[in-house]
Amino acid sequence: MAKTRIGIVGCAGRMGRTLIREILATDAAMLIGGTEQPGHAAVGKPILDPESHVDTGLLVTTDALAMFEAADAVIDFTCPTATVYHAHLASQTKTALIIGTTGLSAAQSADLKTASERTVILQAANFSLGVNLLLALTEEVARRLNEDFDIEILEMHHRLKVDAPSGTAVALGQAAAAGRGVDLAQNSDRVRDGITGARQRGHIGFATLRGGNVVGDHTVIFAADNERIELTHKAADRAIFARGAVAAALWSKDRAPGYYGMADVLGFAR
Ligand code: NAD
Repeated sequence: MAKTRIGIVGCAGRMGRTLIREILATDAAMLIGGTEQPGHAAVGKPILDPESHVDTGLLVTTDALAMFEAADAVIDFTCPTATVYHAHLASQTKTALIIGTTGLSAAQSADLKTASERTVILQAANFSLGVNLLLALTEEVARRLNEDFDIEILEMHHRLKVDAPSGTAVALGQAAAAGRGVDLAQNSDRVRDGITGARQRGHIGFATLRGGNVVGDHTVIFAADNERIELTHKAADRAIFARGAVAAALWSKDRAPGYYGMADVLGFAR
């Protein structure tokens, strides 16, 4: 069977480099290019296997359009403005776009939905198998417990992360809200500071920690009087996200245009 031709936008980033390794290690996948933003030190340099340093024979370019035209799927872990631009290119070239970027505004997310009318857009706040299972568990536990159980979501990431709470924490909040049958935006405490007053019954709280090189820890706490359930996932290596994103790129081949998530790839979709 023909290999799936995959390009990486933002290929010199933390996730970009991890994706290069994963694609090179995946038999069914072929790396066909990588881009960076103009002015980035990596532009014009060879794309190397980050582990063996073997030269792939490809150069880092700024020509995203040419890469989209040559690829079956492009993987995007960059920043929200770049991701919206790449979604336009994906809909223009009918290339599948696998999106891991977090921190998108509601308007930016709507742009992705528009692009999905013409091509495959597959977005996940977290591409790991474990977190996708945690999302399903969180929704189920929230469905079974009433508001006597306060739901708090705690996350910790490395010191360089730019958005908070993490996309995964927000996705966990949405899963909990879905389980309870409420709207997260109307029922959440994203920040607490000063004299906040007592906790509001039914709200879903978020707490954010930043430090060191932590790849990503998430805990969903269901706290009632005298008992507490805690569901925790700890990511020790970015390879788990790259593995999921490459699996999503393989899955996307020959799919009908539409907006998909990791639940579709893993068969968890309701
Ligand atoms: P990073 O800053 O190390 O890498 C981002 C890269 O994108 C940089 O190299 C940057 O130069 C590049 N970039 C920016 N604009 C570009 C453009 N227009 N064209 C090409 N390249 C461009 O960040 P990171 O740690 O790799 O994380 C990237 C994103 O992925 C963040 O939003 C992060 O939260 C998210 N993330 C998601 C998951 C997941 O499973 N969904 C996992 C890890 C990280």
